[in-house]
Amino acid sequence: MPTDISGIKNQSPVYENVDLFGSDCALQEAVAANGMEEAAVLSEFGRRWGSAEMLEQARLANDNAPKLRAFDARGDRSDVVEFHPAYHGFMAESIAAGLHASTWRPDASPADAPAEVARAARYYMVAQVENGHMCPITMTRAAVAALATEPALAATLLPKILSREYDSRFVPLAEKRGITLGMGMTEKQGGTDVRANSTRADRVGDSYRLAGHKWFMSAPMCDAFLVLAQARDGLTCFLLPRFRPDGSVNALHFQRLKDKLGNRSNASTEVEFVDAFALRVGEEGKGIRTILKMVQLTRLDCVISSAGIMRAALARAIFHCGHRSVFGKHLFDQPMMRAVLADLALESEGAVALTMRLCRAFDDAKKSASEAAWARLMTPAAKYWICKTAPDFVYEAMECLGGNGYVEENTLARLFREAPVNAIWEGSGNVMCLDVLRVAKHHSDEVRGVLADLAHNAADLPGASATATTVERMLETGGEAEARIAVELVARLAAAACLKASGPEIVAAAFARARLSDVRRGMWGTVALADGERDLLLKRALQTS
Ligand SMILES: Cc1cc2nc3c(=O)[nH]c(=O)nc-3n(C[C@H](O)[C@H](O)[C@H](O)COP(=O)(O)OP(=O)(O)OC[C@H]3O[C@@H](n4cnc5c(N)ncnc54)[C@H](O)[C@@H]3O)c2cc1C
Repeated sequence: MPTDISGIKNQSPVYENVDLFGSDCALQEAVAANGMEEAAVLSEFGRRWGSAEMLEQARLANDNAPKLRAFDARGDRSDVVEFHPAYHGFMAESIAAGLHASTWRPDASPADAPAEVARAARYYMVAQVENGHMCPITMTRAAVAALATEPALAATLLPKILSREYDSRFVPLAEKRGITLGMGMTEKQGGTDVRANSTRADRVGDSYRLAGHKWFMSAPMCDAFLVLAQARDGLTCFLLPRFRPDGSVNALHFQRLKDKLGNRSNASTEVEFVDAFALRVGEEGKGIRTILKMVQLTRLDCVISSAGIMRAALARAIFHCGHRSVFGKHLFDQPMMRAVLADLALESEGAVALTMRLCRAFDDAKKSASEAAWARLMTPAAKYWICKTAPDFVYEAMECLGGNGYVEENTLARLFREAPVNAIWEGSGNVMCLDVLRVAKHHSDEVRGVLADLAHNAADLPGASATATTVERMLETGGEAEARIAVELVARLAAAACLKASGPEIVAAAFARARLSDVRRGMWGTVALADGERDLLLKRALQTS
């Protein structure tokens, strides 16, 4: 039992200097099963990001929220947002690791497999440490998918996007050694229904002038933003840089920063465009189609991020319970606590197995129609299930630490505040379910194929084939009122099949029994697991070298 010089006993040590890869058996298996073999490299990354230094920097970045400097001392507009040096440090680390661009080639085509899985493994570990800076990292990598529709523009920007150097200077694109990109779709009158966007785009020669606003535009110090605005032929996607071609600051007038529940190291602005200079991306009137290429990738990152947040909470809960004694026994050895921790571990196993399999579908989509179908169906389904599970999951993990979980020093409080945003942005829960229904309607043969594959791959797992049949019926005839349960079931079925492919059979079988066949609608810790299953899940959950 660790003690300090004041004689205090029974407080768990600080959770730091952990190998976020080496301690995570489920992650190791999931990345290996999906084509990524570089365990040593990932372990080095995991040690760096799990170091005490990085965890302290994450605290600093979130305790020192960004500040808007809308005007200078003379009253002229400056429209800059200042971030704490710790935030810049995370940007530099993530960009050096390629998280903002490693899945692209210089011609804006996707990099070869396992680029997605390799990036996702790192992103999953970063999500366990600092989430705010991942917003521009995600948007930068996703923006390339939309920019690819405008090859000449992409060719000028790609060298700076692919750069591994973070250049935080507020200077024009041409002077930058590396750039980041953001996104502006949501307006006051609507975020989901972007057709209601009121920002106007007037053509002036080869460029446009944008007049209007965005109600949420995050990471405002990005060098340019992909935004939607109404042009003559309808809603259109534009590249809106922070500087005009003549080097003057473009007319993005930041009104204020959002006072957010979490994601506090990152800034989200309300912004007005006052005849701001912009370039068209894709055809006029095809804005939604163009920007959806980007949104599909930001949704994938929401999935990875939420799975990472769950893992961070689980690891801390298990670690604490392994050191804290109550009634003469470690919490970890108390039967009821074991039931709670094992249930959380089971959910986390399913989440990471599904996440990495989904990334493989993105890796292989360009060569395989069935993998493209997998990605199309499972991106909204996984975003729905994993991102909506995370807040409740983190809350239960927090309670495992008792009062210590509720205070800031133990990180669970920050993870708890962070957890809901991935479900809300980039298409909220219901919108994900509507997307699954849309896919089922317009790609019904594909969806039947994916469900048949899942049923086949999970065939001998409890409840798998019955679930596949139920989901197929619900997606065909159930309509919106049944969509949430259909989507949840398809995500769980997929997670069971993925676990079977990546981990021990006993884990997949326990997951399928608890989440597909013997489903109990209780709190965490109420699922029927055998002692041996709990023992294995807990042994796997936090490995020490
Ligand atoms: C921290 C933060 C940062 C953000 N950063 C950005 C950014 O950088 N760029 C950007 O463009 N946006 C950003 N957003 C905005 C975000 O993407 C939107 O809030 C989100 O898309 C939802 O839009 P809305 O807020 O207008 O909600 P609404 O569209 O009004 O939706 C409200 C609720 O209704 C549900 N709903 C919608 N349609 C239906 C339906 N047909 N049936 C049933 N339910 C439905 C939705 O699921 C949601 O739960 C950010 C948001 C947050 C919280």
